[in-house]
Amino acid sequence: MGSVRIENREMRGIGASPGIAIASVRITDRSRVAVVEQPISSAEVATEKDRFIAALALARQELQGLKQQIAEKHGPEHLFVIDSHLMILDDAMLSSETEQLIETELINAEGALKRTLLQFKAFFEEMEDEYLRERSSDVETVVERVLRHLVGHSHEPITWVEGKVIIVAHDLTPSDILQIDKEKVVGFVTDLGGKTSHSAILARALEIPAVVGLERATAEIVAGDNLIIDGATGVVTINPDRNTFRDALRRKQRYEYLDRELAKLKDLPAVATDGHRILLKGNAEFLEEIPSIKRHGGEGIGLYRTEMLFFNRTEPPGEEEQYAAYAAMVREVAPHPVTIRTLDVGGDKFVADLNLNDELNPALGVRAIRLSLRSPDIFKTQLRAILRASALGTVRVFFPMISGVTEVRQAKSLLEEAKQELRERGVPFDETINVGIMIEIPSAVLIADLLAREVDFFSIGTNDLIQYSLAIDRTNEHLSHLYEPLHPAVLRSLKMVVDAAHAAGIDACMCGEMAGEPTFLPILLGLGFDELSMNAISIPRVKKILRRCSRAETESLVSASMNFPTAAEVEEYLQREITARFSDSFD
Ligand code: PEP
Ligand code: MG
Repeated sequence: MGSVRIENREMRGIGASPGIAIASVRITDRSRVAVVEQPISSAEVATEKDRFIAALALARQELQGLKQQIAEKHGPEHLFVIDSHLMILDDAMLSSETEQLIETELINAEGALKRTLLQFKAFFEEMEDEYLRERSSDVETVVERVLRHLVGHSHEPITWVEGKVIIVAHDLTPSDILQIDKEKVVGFVTDLGGKTSHSAILARALEIPAVVGLERATAEIVAGDNLIIDGATGVVTINPDRNTFRDALRRKQRYEYLDRELAKLKDLPAVATDGHRILLKGNAEFLEEIPSIKRHGGEGIGLYRTEMLFFNRTEPPGEEEQYAAYAAMVREVAPHPVTIRTLDVGGDKFVADLNLNDELNPALGVRAIRLSLRSPDIFKTQLRAILRASALGTVRVFFPMISGVTEVRQAKSLLEEAKQELRERGVPFDETINVGIMIEIPSAVLIADLLAREVDFFSIGTNDLIQYSLAIDRTNEHLSHLYEPLHPAVLRSLKMVVDAAHAAGIDACMCGEMAGEPTFLPILLGLGFDELSMNAISIPRVKKILRRCSRAETESLVSASMNFPTAAEVEEYLQREITARFSDSFD
């Protein structure tokens, strides 16, 4: 027979974890379990339920065994992923729904479980938020594990071949990725997955180049093919020709050289040439992101988004559960500080039960602090958990989407109530915990001087500030060309906020995406920011530029930039100045 070998074909997926890998392919069978739905008699209902319960127990045992293995290999920091799978497995809805279907529809356990999965998937697929949609694949992974036990195949453990390979799979579970030996597996590609799937987050945390969401990778690529994957751009080349191979090799060497150079910066201070210091921190949502933030020289967490604890469940997490998560984060990041943001859901971030349904204008609706102030019990539960974690290290707390002074006062008064409740229970916390606000609404910019009297720090959320200032939906891809961080209105806003903060003697921080873009650093330094918080891999890139600039010269850059009427002109001016002054720092 013999199939035709694909030569030098490009496929495009989603770059999930940067880096270039070149190796031959190893296919890992993670194909779906074939499920046959069969009718049963009412006499068989009890047996089918028992089979289902037994399969759940086996899957739980398997995950617990895996947890042990992973703890031995990686230590405790990645166990969160397995825990979240255990939580899905123990979800009351998953089992009650399946058992009910067995009983009412008179179908076998695997058929009922598959139907429950489809209901869960339909529910998640309705969601606009990419992160939430991705949670459906976590549920699917867990259900597959149970199905395998029902149909009698246990989950095939990954056993690696000799030599270096790139894994090609329909999907990989987070636990598959945690078992990867980086000496042998230099990268992976999958049909499924998105940028915020757990597997992608783990690949970034472990620094394994990966491309996901290729859809047809397992259909097109066969064992023994040679592959180039670019985890930044999402491009995969199958059986590259000589020129493509050479070019990829050069890019790989260049990438690794830059990475080594940037790694050398890890322990060097984040200071400008004239000694001006900016704290460079990481943004985090998961504990497993912390090692990468540390490896990249982050000096703490400038934005800990707590939403993830509230997603994918029917009841909000209680004080103990939240405390456990915050405490783990604080311990892991110590001695550096963790800045914990209170719940920011609503708008494009949806949580069942908490949100109002069908708001006409969710981005302008009951979002973030507005939701917290409407549900003081949920808010105070979170505040008590944060306060308790403040006894374990340096913690700051801040509130999202503040539009005026009244909201800050209301939030602070609930914080005081939470403190009093802890005092009455005799529970320790940091009495002098710093309190801040996100500046991400134009009204907050205009009254930054009034707000600065109420809090200990500001953190500018440019993702929303740009959205609300320019009236551009941040999730609308048709408007992305208008989403301009260098728009004169944005630059003026940044200046007003930093100046108001400093006039009141408080810190001006930034934690939106703009903070992690190296080419913006001269502007942010010139404006006088005290702290920038960003994704892990941006930290050394931003630090490299910072160490080449002086505060004085960037101040003049800012003054000149403020005179241009359009973002395009500001950008052109900046590019020119940057190329002339620090051309070698920007590659
Ligand atoms: C922002 O708006 O810039 C921000 C950091 O918050 P989020 O992206 O979570 O809305
Ligand atoms: Mg925001």
